[in-house]
Parts: sequence; C-alpha cells; structure tokens
Amino acid sequence: MKQNFFDIVIIGAGVIGHSIAFKLKQCRSDLRLAVVGDPMNSLMASRAAAGMLAPFGECNEANRFFRFCRDSFLQYPDFIKSLISISNIPVFLSMKGSLIPSFSLDNGWEKKVQFFREQNIPHEIWSPERSRQLAPALVESCGEVMWVGEGQVNNREMHDALVTASNKLGVEIIEKNVSGFIHDSSSVEAAVVEKLEVRGKKFVLASGSWSSQLGDALDVSLPVKPIKGQMCRVQVEDGQLDYTVHGLMTYIAPWQGGKGFVLGTTMEDRGFNPIIEDDVIQGLIDRAAEVIPCIKDAPLIESWTGLRPAAEDLMPVMGKSSRYQNLFYSTGHYRNGILQTPKQADYIVETILETLTDEILEFSPKRYNL
Ligand SMILES: Cc1cc2nc3c(=O)[nH]c(=O)nc-3n(C[C@H](O)[C@H](O)[C@H](O)COP(=O)(O)OP(=O)(O)OC[C@H]3O[C@@H](n4cnc5c(N)ncnc54)[C@H](O)[C@@H]3O)c2cc1C
Repeated sequence: MKQNFFDIVIIGAGVIGHSIAFKLKQCRSDLRLAVVGDPMNSLMASRAAAGMLAPFGECNEANRFFRFCRDSFLQYPDFIKSLISISNIPVFLSMKGSLIPSFSLDNGWEKKVQFFREQNIPHEIWSPERSRQLAPALVESCGEVMWVGEGQVNNREMHDALVTASNKLGVEIIEKNVSGFIHDSSSVEAAVVEKLEVRGKKFVLASGSWSSQLGDALDVSLPVKPIKGQMCRVQVEDGQLDYTVHGLMTYIAPWQGGKGFVLGTTMEDRGFNPIIEDDVIQGLIDRAAEVIPCIKDAPLIESWTGLRPAAEDLMPVMGKSSRYQNLFYSTGHYRNGILQTPKQADYIVETILETLTDEILEFSPKRYNL
C-alpha cells in the first residue's frame, strides 16, 4: 500500500464498489480513493451473474424501483463505451432484446402486454411463424413470443474492465478483507485490514452479501442476507440465438464470442452455502432445453454458485448513514445489481459529493436506522 489515508475508502470489490470508484474518479480526478476487498471471493455475485439487463421482464408495476432500473438500463451503452475506452478491455454488450414465450407466463400474458403498452416499453408480439424465422432455436411449440427491448452484458468482462479502469485512474486497490473498524459513535476513522489501519475522510460500505457482517463491526443491524443462486454454462455455437430468453422458471443468456449459453438459476435462502448440486444443475439444463431444445445435448462447460445481497424489503440500501456522518451504503442490489450498476454509481457519487437533487426514500438507509 502506497499510502494509508484516503478521501474515500470503498469497502467491497464487486461491480458496485468498483463502479463507484470509477465514476468518482471521472468526476473528481483529484480524490484519493481506495477499494478494499478480497478479489478471490468465489461467491461474489458480480462474477456469478448472467448479466441480464432486464428492467421490464420481471416488473409489473411502474414504481420508483422500476424507474431506477429503466434509467440505469438506458445509461448502459455510454457506460460501457467509457469503460472500454479507459480500461482497453473488451466488454460484450447486446441491446438486441429479450424474448418471453407465451407459454412461460401461463395466465400473466395479457397483464404483461397491458403493462408494457401503458408504460411505453418497447415490445413486439411475434406470431409463432415470425418467432420461428427470427429465433429458430426456440422450441416449435413456443406459440406467440414477446420481444422486449432489454439487453445483456458479460458481467465478468465488465468486472475485469472496472478493476483495470480503477487501477488506471489511480485508485489504490487493496486486495484484502476488512476485519473491523475504528470508530466512535458518530464517525468512522479507519477500516482495519490485517494489521493496517486504512484511514479515510469518508467510507462506502459496498460489500454485497457480506455487508451485514461489516455492519455488525459498526454496531448497526443491516438486514441484508445472501440468496444463493446456482448457475451453469453450456457450449452452444455462436449465432444460434441473438436474444436472452425468459423461460419456464429459467432464463437463458447467450454470451457471444464462443462462450456458449448461461443458464439460470435458483433462489435459495441457505446462508453462505457454496455447494453446487449436480441434480439442481441438471434441472436447469432440462428446463432450458424445453425452451431451446439444442441445449439438451450441449456439453457442460462449468457450473457455479453466487450470493445475491437481499435486504429485508428486497430494495437496495443506498445513501448516507443516519448514524455515522461520514459513512455511505450501496448494497442490497439483490437480483438486478448488474443492471443497476451505472445509475447506482451516479446516485452514490452525487450523494457523496452532495449534488444529489432527488433522494429516493424507498432506498434510504434511514428506513433501517442505519
Ligand atoms: C446467480 C446470480 C445471478 C444473477 N444474475 C443477474 C443478472 O442476470 N442481472 C443482474 O442485473 N443481476 C444479477 N445478479 C445480481 C448481481 O450479481 C448482484 O446484485 C451484484 O453483483 C451485487 O454486486 P456487489 O458488488 O454489491 O456484490 P458482490 O459482487 O458480491 O461483491 C461483494 C464484494 O465485497 C467483498 N467483501 C466481502 N467481505 C468483505 C470484507 N470483510 N471486507 C472487504 N470486502 C469484502 C467481496 O470480496 C466482494 O468483492 C445475479 C446474482 C447471482 C448470485
């Protein structure tokens, strides 16, 4: 470590922590920043996700969260462009959209169509014939299919690019975990990393599912817990499918560049459980193959587990602490943290720099007296 006093110390080395550092440096290159966190954490959500940028498929209500996710989605092309230009690392981004086969929605189809119309969400309804022309990999019996203007990013490439960009912009990256804090009742003085005290004027807690453990060290009860997801990736040649697919209790995300299809996922409330179960992975493959038959015999490349950080009310926890005058939170991004990354980073940067004009009370740490 070159120095141990920073303007801002960001705790957590996933997409959330690094994107905050990246945006802060773009706004204020003079700030001395550190990102602290162990990059070898095999359960971190940022590398486990499928990279679906799906603000619409899972929403049925135009609430504040929906609008936040939609705004973040719209920022994606510019965000990735600037990330690539600074990091010089390629990041796959597709804005070609996603597909919802009618059979995967049972009786929710009409409601979804009405919601999309009311909210002016870009969508088309494809007849079975048109679906066969535009997405021949779909099962013949898929019926009508809804195309939705959503997207997809390779989140591992995005994470690599964020780490490299932070480095290039002069952020100090401390690849170790925080074990405690030096603080009094109203401010944080230092994060303790092994025997070092990493001192700062301001601190950001952005450690995903591990945020509540760090909250304990600050005497705050942060109601964020891990929700486990098991995933796998199968080898399918490029060109079979241009869109992500919301299927029968599953989703399929084609990662181009010879990287195959990512199949997701489970939602398991089982603590910090890292186990990958063969029968669960087989279940993902079987369900995905009912939607895209060529998946049935595709070779399995890898399977993995990751932990989604979920707050009690399933909303993000973002903003200034009400207990510590120099502490900020960005956690609880749950199932959509990749999607929320660009907008979340702007929101936290504006909060820290005191330029935020539209505080979102639904996301505020105050709701949990943090
Ligand atoms: C299986 C799965 C599929 C998903 N699919 C999608 C998707 O398709 N689209 C989407 O938008 N979102 C998806 N998500 C959600 C998304 O991945 C997360 O919301 C997002 O990555 C959270 O990022 P994060 O940086 O907060 O947390 P993480 O990526 O978990 O990072 C937390 C960081 O904190 C660090 N840390 C832990 N303890 C300490 C400590 N003591 N001191 C310092 N640092 C510490 C870790 O090492 C890690 O670097 C998915 C998640 C999972 C698990």
